[in-house]
Amino acid sequence: MKAEVSSEPHERKESRDKVYNQVEVSKKDRSIAVERSAEVKALDADYFAVKDQIPTGFKLEEEYQKSRKRILQVLGGSEEDWDSYKWHLKNRIGKVEVLERIVHFSDEEKKQIEKASKGYRWSISPFFASLMDPDDKNCPIRMQAIPSILEELDSSEIKDPMIIKYNSPAPLISRLYPDRVIINVTNACSMFCRHCLRRKDIDFKDVTYPRRLLDQAIEYVRENEEIRDVLLTGGDALSLSNSQLDYILTKLDKIPHVEIKRLGSRMPCTLPQRITPELCEMLETHDPIYLNTQFNHPKEVTREAQKAVDMLTKCGVIVRDQTVLLNGINNNPHIMKKLMQELLKIKISPYYIFNCKKVEGIRHFRTTIADGLNIIEHLRGYTSGMAVPTFIITAPEGRGKTPMYPQYLLNPNVDGEPLIRTWGGHILQYPDEHQPNGSPNGIMGNEE
Ligand code: SF4
Repeated sequence: MKAEVSSEPHERKESRDKVYNQVEVSKKDRSIAVERSAEVKALDADYFAVKDQIPTGFKLEEEYQKSRKRILQVLGGSEEDWDSYKWHLKNRIGKVEVLERIVHFSDEEKKQIEKASKGYRWSISPFFASLMDPDDKNCPIRMQAIPSILEELDSSEIKDPMIIKYNSPAPLISRLYPDRVIINVTNACSMFCRHCLRRKDIDFKDVTYPRRLLDQAIEYVRENEEIRDVLLTGGDALSLSNSQLDYILTKLDKIPHVEIKRLGSRMPCTLPQRITPELCEMLETHDPIYLNTQFNHPKEVTREAQKAVDMLTKCGVIVRDQTVLLNGINNNPHIMKKLMQELLKIKISPYYIFNCKKVEGIRHFRTTIADGLNIIEHLRGYTSGMAVPTFIITAPEGRGKTPMYPQYLLNPNVDGEPLIRTWGGHILQYPDEHQPNGSPNGIMGNEE
């Protein structure tokens, strides 16, 4: 039998063996590594023990299908209708008599819904209603969609947290920052979230602003060359028809200093059927577009949302999430972690967690800054960095978004070795770099 002769050149074999040897570690090092792995594993044990009990849209698919059938029956729609966003918008649920055929509540609750809805209109897309638990009045989807008597009982006086009158230099424009503005294109939404900060704009009727005002807003953008980023929102930007959106985006594309356009829309969550091939085809012609959406609970991350995001990403739209921190819905580190992980699975990038602002009627949703920081503490290091959004509070007097971070730098000693706290709770001294001569890297300075 002929001995096999290796055709691998000696040098290549040697360098490969060298790499292999680097991977090999001593028994002692391996045992330290095993110990460390056990330590990091233990840090996440409480989440690991409960994560599968947290309801998600994917797990509840069967229940959602049953609800869909029931809702179609109540509203007299067909399976084909269910796929049409126009049908959903036309059949938004805004009457207690219809809602009580979809979810269960007592006569007392019925009276309360009627009373609470006098201050701020309500309207739920049949799709979003299909995510509701018919028997659980504390269902996070119900809490976001059905009026609560707590709205009526809140007498907080602030109606406009962004002090719009001080931040609107032109019609429909909100400007809080140097290089970007908002154009408020409509007050319409597929569902009027009970925690909405823009309640005062929602009013009782859908409004799409006339071209005259839109043109004035676009003119403001044209005249201010530092504006490179324009956010269309409202309301929900995708409440506009494709041709209305196309009109605005085309005008913005013609302004040389506008580098990116953003759409503010909750529809990937509340009415994913709105993401149609026609919409995507139109958006693709206005690249680059970012879509900022809002998911507040893992129950909202559904197969339909996944399909909508897939369509958007295929036409080049980048989708990011801005969750609102809501008492009783997601102010829990485990739920928030699950939400962020579910979002990444459907290719939505977590961007912000917003603290709920002080607005009349939503006090029961508000929670503390400490709650938000606690959530970030339980995300950073415990899960992928991509799943860790920035926690934001909006400063009073319309002074803009202010990030809040847990404290990891314990002693900012610039001359020595600052003390840091790691995500896992280790307190360590960090060998910071210090350049005594003020040169960029110290080398040039030393040579002089
Ligand atoms: S979709 Fe946005 S603007 Fe519309 S009600 Fe909900 S939070 Fe408010």
